Amino acid sequence: MTVFEYQRPRSLSEAHELLLRDDSVALAGGTDLLVAIRRHAADPGLVVDLKSVEEIGNGINLDEGRLVIGGRVVMSRLVRDEAVNDEFPALASAASVVGSVQIRNRATLAGNLCNASPAADTAPALLAYGAAVTITGGPASRTVPLDEFFLRPGSTVLGRGEVLTSVELPVPTDRVGAAFARVTRRRGVDLASVSLACVVDSGRARFGFGAVGPTPLVAESPIEELATDDGWERLLAVTRPISDVRAGADYRFAMLRVHARRALETAMSRLRART
Ligand SMILES: Cc1cc2nc3c(=O)[nH]c(=O)nc-3n(C[C@H](O)[C@H](O)[C@H](O)COP(=O)(O)OP(=O)(O)OC[C@H]3O[C@@H](n4cnc5c(N)ncnc54)[C@H](O)[C@@H]3O)c2cc1C
Repeated sequence: MTVFEYQRPRSLSEAHELLLRDDSVALAGGTDLLVAIRRHAADPGLVVDLKSVEEIGNGINLDEGRLVIGGRVVMSRLVRDEAVNDEFPALASAASVVGSVQIRNRATLAGNLCNASPAADTAPALLAYGAAVTITGGPASRTVPLDEFFLRPGSTVLGRGEVLTSVELPVPTDRVGAAFARVTRRRGVDLASVSLACVVDSGRARFGFGAVGPTPLVAESPIEELATDDGWERLLAVTRPISDVRAGADYRFAMLRVHARRALETAMSRLRART
């Protein structure tokens, strides 16, 4: 049996102090962390539960042209939220396929990012929409573009004592169309073998890719260049699929090619429907 100390701080400064301890780890919904502890993939001496830290927001608010999603917001909340569905439908779609209802009621968006799985389902949509995250450690805060947040599987730029307090998305000033796509081995609860999101405006397409590299990835291209195979090869050159228990590298790349094209078509037709 794994034994660890458990603390439930009420303020960000208290959480920060506790998380400075070398053997500590933050807990949000626990849907990744508790699985890791049970599998002995994590062996913390101190678990710091963030659920009572009100400064880590639990709301989704429009603020000066950005949608600010608090660090305690769970997937079910994203799926229901009107502003997310209106402005960032690919994020709502991604959140809606995470695990099961029970998982979505516990799993936070922040935890999905901080866990840093290459297959995190919300990451491609957030990357395609140009999201950033706010990280707080003690009195200092910094905002990091999401495409600079992930370092390698399971690792991010978060330093000891730091907490992800919010995710921010710039509300598009032009009309955009978006689509999310995901390939899994079976219907029902499964992690993605390939996932992606596509956001288009009148000239450019921006894609986020999941499970086809060591971290979630982003790439963009003028739409007209995606009329040719060369244009697609250039766009997809950023990806580095591997073979693992969920899929072979060749299969992943084949699925990526097909679903990226379909996502572009869907996003374009949604853009046309909005104009
Ligand atoms: C049955 C099952 C099915 C699943 N299906 C999917 C799926 O389909 N798609 C998918 O993407 N994921 C899936 N997951 C993974 C998981 O649900 C998500 O990654 C979830 O969003 C993690 O959030 P959490 O709040 O539970 O994080 P936790 O488990 O509490 O934490 C995860 C990691 O992030 C850190 N952390 C959490 N919050 C913060 C914070 N605010 N600041 C700093 N560090 C923090 C923790 O220290 C820990 O290292 C599944 C999990 C299970 C158990």
